[in-house]
Amino acid sequence: MKITKVEPIVLHVPTVAGLDDDDIPDDLVVRVETDEGIVGIGEIDGPPLATTTLVRSVHPGTFWRGFEDILIGENPLDVERLWEKMYRYSLHFGRRGMIIWVLGGIDIALWDIAGKYYKQPVYKLLGGAKGESIPAYASMPPYQTAERLIQACEEVVKKHNFTAIKFHTDPVRLHDGTWVKFVKAVREHFGEKLTLMVDAHNGFTTDEAVRFAKSLEPFDVYFLEAALLPDNLDGFARLVSSTDIMIAVGEEQSTRFMFLDLMDRGKVDIVQADTIVQGGITECKRIAELAKDRGKLYVPHVWKTDIAFASNFHVGAAANSPFVEWPVSESPLRKSLTNESFPLDSNGRVHLPQAAGLGVTLNESVVEKYRFPGPYSHY
Ligand SMILES: [Mg+2]
Repeated sequence: MKITKVEPIVLHVPTVAGLDDDDIPDDLVVRVETDEGIVGIGEIDGPPLATTTLVRSVHPGTFWRGFEDILIGENPLDVERLWEKMYRYSLHFGRRGMIIWVLGGIDIALWDIAGKYYKQPVYKLLGGAKGESIPAYASMPPYQTAERLIQACEEVVKKHNFTAIKFHTDPVRLHDGTWVKFVKAVREHFGEKLTLMVDAHNGFTTDEAVRFAKSLEPFDVYFLEAALLPDNLDGFARLVSSTDIMIAVGEEQSTRFMFLDLMDRGKVDIVQADTIVQGGITECKRIAELAKDRGKLYVPHVWKTDIAFASNFHVGAAANSPFVEWPVSESPLRKSLTNESFPLDSNGRVHLPQAAGLGVTLNESVVEKYRFPGPYSHY
């Protein structure tokens, strides 16, 4: 089997203002085609007009090539070898950030092809999972008042059966005690019924984060996410040693090398890798294994569409993750880009897809509806 085409598909939803990232105003889907008719899909984070160029551009230099150019004619089943090839051929301008997002999105499509070829869901190819479902936690946007936040929590619990909820804080009120009061109010309202998590969006200095974590401790918070800037590794180590709350981070990192630093120097308790950011299924599998060796938890970070959810879900299942993130905002792309979705069952758990590959397929009418005729889209 040979790769014949790597097609980046830019999607743009003109009715979404994009003021809230979680609304997903645009996206880059990648479709990898083969000479045997098997097609894989992936998703790439970042600004789609920039990332699509990295897929399709052709450079004359040996170590300066677009990813489609690197992959044409290759056997898509050599997934890890192709990861290394893409990494090496983009080494001089890559290794971190946007290049890794693109590499990862294509890697997801290659795993989808492999699953379809071997007639197995991806998590089976990754080694299998202990069970057939994982609890999902609701990823909630910030709210202006505790009353509104409690109301929103009640709504998502009633609608989806969540047993765990994460609050996204807002930077304006991160330092005035507002979010400690909000967490206290939610804990008092729901009692021990809900597992609670807090995302601080890199908003604290080390001293501030230590104080914030201490003030959250009475309210049984499962983890505190992104308390510090991602490169403040010594700060993370101090924070971890100063609180009983588990410290989680990862969505800003690139590749296992940065996660090794987070775990070995930063001493963090939970790593939150995301296939569409950290280098695809191949790299997230490696990160999960490094975490397991160190006695750390792996909890997949998820946003964007159900392509991202599916790919992260397979990795999380194989890594025995205690939770998978489940964004609650109802973007048109999140709701309709794929023909399949991942509802929670009555116990707040999401069941692993059993179809071959990722277990998600593109809704072609939605692709055509939102396809953006940008550069590199149609050749
Ligand atoms: Mg986060």
